Amino acid sequence: MREYRGIPASPGVVAAPAFVLREEEELSVPSYVLEPDAIEGEWDRFLGAVDKAKAEVEELRDRARSTAGEEQAAIFEAHLLMLSDPDLFESLQANLNATYRNIERVIVEFERELVEKLAGAEDPYLQARAADIHDVTRRILSHLLFRERFTLADLESDIILVARDLLPSDMISLNRARVKAIATEAGGRTSHVAILARAFEIPAVLGLGELVEEIRTGETIVVDGDRGLVVAEPDTATLARAAAAQAAAAALERELAGLRDLPATTVDGRRLLLKANIEVPEEALAAVEHGAEGVGLFRSEFLFLQPGHVPGEDEQYRAYRRVVETMAGRPVTIRTLDIGGDKVLPELGALDEKNPLLGWRAIRFCLANREVFLTQLRAILRAAAHGDVRIMFPMISSPEELERARELVVEARTECRRRGHRVPDYIKVGIMIEVPAAALASDILARRADFFSIGTNDLIQYTMAVDRGNEKVAYLHDPYQPSVLRLVKQTIESGRAAGIPVGMCGEMASDPSAAFLLLGLGLEEFSMSSASLPAVKRLLRSVSAVEAEEAALAVMSMSSSAEVSAYLAARLAAIGERQR
Ligand code: PEP
Ligand code: MG
Repeated sequence: MREYRGIPASPGVVAAPAFVLREEEELSVPSYVLEPDAIEGEWDRFLGAVDKAKAEVEELRDRARSTAGEEQAAIFEAHLLMLSDPDLFESLQANLNATYRNIERVIVEFERELVEKLAGAEDPYLQARAADIHDVTRRILSHLLFRERFTLADLESDIILVARDLLPSDMISLNRARVKAIATEAGGRTSHVAILARAFEIPAVLGLGELVEEIRTGETIVVDGDRGLVVAEPDTATLARAAAAQAAAAALERELAGLRDLPATTVDGRRLLLKANIEVPEEALAAVEHGAEGVGLFRSEFLFLQPGHVPGEDEQYRAYRRVVETMAGRPVTIRTLDIGGDKVLPELGALDEKNPLLGWRAIRFCLANREVFLTQLRAILRAAAHGDVRIMFPMISSPEELERARELVVEARTECRRRGHRVPDYIKVGIMIEVPAAALASDILARRADFFSIGTNDLIQYTMAVDRGNEKVAYLHDPYQPSVLRLVKQTIESGRAAGIPVGMCGEMASDPSAAFLLLGLGLEEFSMSSASLPAVKRLLRSVSAVEAEEAALAVMSMSSSAEVSAYLAARLAAIGERQR
């Protein structure tokens, strides 16, 4: 038996055969035979991808020239030459015509032969050229394959997906019925892969370090998403424990299902709102089934990360309307496009940046791309004619951004009317508080926001200066750090002082112990993945607001995260005892 420890990212225990994405290019590059009349179109597809690759490399060259100097820029010049090399084109076209294989496969085979030849050479110059060829072909392939990970979508039997890392777009396109669990070397609890795994109720362990080279496709492994453990070559006792854990989880789910229609009211009568975070419209049904009183966060960018194309206004409108109708009168908060960071979207010009998390992300990207933003705002406003819809802006870091974004809502409404669409006269416009600057200026922002929703995933990332997807620093992504708690408290207080509702849609809200503390700090709305709702509701229904306030007071004077966790655990254990 071999055990690997990682970060428990999505609960549940599963035993199944592993499917290892060992070499990304090998497994995610599809291989199929073309009809003779499809060859020409295939070649055009290749040329289109080359054009996109060239545009990207030109941008990289220019950036390198202004920031790193001529030597760096020369590397990209060499890549550009390769992207226009007639010999290269001739060889690829000849292979395509001879084999009738899809162009991705032709490229991979061509590259393998060439790189093997060059890499075996003694000459360091030729070895370096092998690396350049690899880079250039990767770039072309990424445009050809962008969001077309056939193997992940087309899996035909139940598997546990093992990979070095996954992209949010991989998660969106994978076959959810077949992927029974996920184990990756990279990633943290609040990375988007983890969030999507929880949303899709797929057990996951991330941040496992070396794993891909250790596991073989086809061997049975156990993923324990509760404890953050992966076991290869499990013995019979481990398999029996996995089966027992599955049965226990199903029993708990049945028990918690009884809470579905009960309100989230504390024993002393404080009524709280429990809402769901969703990523794709289909999830709205699960939200209703788990008793959500609304959608507190619709991560609309995942519509844009679906395989295929960028959705236009009508398509977005239909998606938003579908959520609004499924929620049947319950409020739906649609967060505007939060791309950039780990969610690159080359079609819209949101590329990988040198410092993506501090770059052209979320509201910054939208304000700079007015048409993209106005299109989305119009779609949201039109959907708002069908129910209670609210708009929420991500990653606000200054009052000016909020002001400009609000102006664009007015502009979008005017345009909708001009086009004859029915839109409401008034719509609530709120913001996420997920940057320390926003928390610190929350009193100012509260004057122009109709509500706040605290996004602790990013708030912790930016407060602690810790990439939320990097397993090596995951221990610092900790909601109980005194710095983080102070920002959360300050935000809640600013919102309350201004008379606007304050909720939380970051992962912190989905942890029952943290929910107890947040209740004590005055939080009114808790939004989380649907599957987490029942356990948080059970906790909130079993405590009093007064005792939570007392606990919060004590916590705010503590000087370490460990002290906070230990204290909350002891308080909740005592409450559990009291109820027996
Ligand atoms: C957050 O940052 O806490 C949040 C809810 O947004 P996301 O996880 O999508 O960045
Ligand atoms: Mg965020």
